[in-house]
Amino acid sequence: MDNEIYDIAIIGGGPAGSAASIFLAKGGLKVCLFEKKRFPRETLCGEFLSKEVIDIIKELKLFEKFLAFHPNKIDSFRLINDNGKEISANLNFHAYGLRRSTLDNLLLNEAIKNGVKVFQPFEIIRVENIGNDFLLSAQNDVIDYSYFKSKFVISAYGKQSTLDQTFHRNFIKRKSFLNGVKFHIPKSELNYNMPNEIRIFLSNGIYCGMNEVDNDIVTLCFLENRMILKNTSRSNLIECVSRNKMLKNIIPDSIIAKLNKLPAYGNSNIYFGKRKLIENGTFMIGDAGGIIAPIAGDGIGMALQSGKLIADVLLKSKKENLSLNEAQMLYQNSWQKLFSKRIYYGLFIQKILLESRLKNLAINFVYSFPFVLPKLIDSTRSNSIF
Ligand SMILES: Cc1cc2nc3c(=O)[nH]c(=O)nc-3n(C[C@H](O)[C@H](O)[C@H](O)COP(=O)(O)OP(=O)(O)OC[C@H]3O[C@@H](n4cnc5c(N)ncnc54)[C@H](O)[C@@H]3O)c2cc1C
Repeated sequence: MDNEIYDIAIIGGGPAGSAASIFLAKGGLKVCLFEKKRFPRETLCGEFLSKEVIDIIKELKLFEKFLAFHPNKIDSFRLINDNGKEISANLNFHAYGLRRSTLDNLLLNEAIKNGVKVFQPFEIIRVENIGNDFLLSAQNDVIDYSYFKSKFVISAYGKQSTLDQTFHRNFIKRKSFLNGVKFHIPKSELNYNMPNEIRIFLSNGIYCGMNEVDNDIVTLCFLENRMILKNTSRSNLIECVSRNKMLKNIIPDSIIAKLNKLPAYGNSNIYFGKRKLIENGTFMIGDAGGIIAPIAGDGIGMALQSGKLIADVLLKSKKENLSLNEAQMLYQNSWQKLFSKRIYYGLFIQKILLESRLKNLAINFVYSFPFVLPKLIDSTRSNSIF
C-alpha cells in the first residue's frame, strides 16, 4: 500500500490522462497516474493532429519540443470514392502528422516534469469508494496487487478496457462490428506524392485514411464494417485497394505482398454510442467518456480538451468547495456543451460513408455542391457553426 493520499488518481496515460494530470498538477494538486503499458508504445490512430491538438500543445508550451520531432504539416483534405470521384478542400487550419508513440510520450514526460507521480506499467483492476476516498487496486507483471488512495478518480483509459466490465458499463454487451487497424509504411516504398494532404479513400463498408507523419513514415489507418465485410481485416484492405484506383496507384503490389508481415495496431468492436460520464464515482474523460468518429480526425483534440475540462472543474471545485455531486453535474453539463454535437455529426457522416449506396449519393451531392464540404468539416470541430 502506497501511504500517500493523492488528491487525484488518473487511470490511463494517453492524451486525455496526461493532459488532465498536467493541468491539475500545475493547479497545485497532488496527482498520480497509472498507465498499463510501458511508453513509448504505438496505438490505433490515423495520427492526424488537428488544430485543437496544436492549440493545447501550444498552451502547455510544448510546441517547440513538438516541432523537434519533425511532424509533417497537413493543410488540405481529399476524399476519393471508389467510383473515381474526388473532392478536396483546404482545412483552413494547420494540422500535423506525428506518430502516437512520440506524441503520447512527449505528454507523459511533461506530466512527470510537472510533478505527477506516474506508475508505469501499472494496470488498475478495481476502484472502490471507501468513505470519502477511493481505493485503487493495481497490478503488473512483477507485483500481484498494490493499493493506492485518492480523493477523486479520473478514468482516462480509452475506448476499451477491462474496467468497462468491472464498472458494468451499459454497452459492454453491444456489438458494433466496427474494427480499426493502423499500419506504418516507409514513404520510400509507396508511390506517394501528397505530403501536405490527408486523403480518405472510400470503398464498400470501409474508409481508409492516409497521411504522412514524422521521419518519412506514412500512416495508413482504416475503419471497417464487419457486418458488410466478412474477411480478415488485411483481406478487406486489399479488396479496398483493388477497388479504389487512386489507392492502388499509391500502394504497390510489393506492399500488398508483405502486408501480413507489417505490424498492425488495431481494436475490434469499437463502440461509438453514448457513454455515461460518471461511472463508479469516477469522471470519464477522453474516449472513455465518448468517442468521435475517426473521419472527424479529432479524437486526440477531444481527449486533450476533456483533460483540460476536468482539470478546470476539479480546480474550481476545490476553490469553491463544491460537493462531489456539484462537481459531477458541472462536468457533465460542460462536456455536453463542448462535445455532444461534434460527436453526433461525426457519427452521422461515418454512417453514410460506411453504407455503399448512401456514400455514393452523398459524394455526388457534395461533388455538385462543393461549398458543403468545409461546412461538414466544421460541423465536427470545436468552432462548429451548427
Ligand atoms: C480507426 C481510428 C483512427 C483514428 N484516427 C485519429 C486521428 O487521425 N486523429 C485523431 O485526433 N484521433 C483519431 N482517433 C481517435 C484517437 O485515437 C482517440 O480519440 C484518442 O487516442 C483518445 O485518447 P485517450 O487518452 O482517451 O485514450 P487512449 O489514447 O486510448 O489512451 C488510454 C490509455 O489508457 C491505458 N489503460 C487502459 N486501461 C488501463 C487500466 N486499467 N489501467 C491503466 N492504464 C490503462 C492504455 O494503455 C492507454 O495508454 C482514431 C480512432 C480510431 C478508432
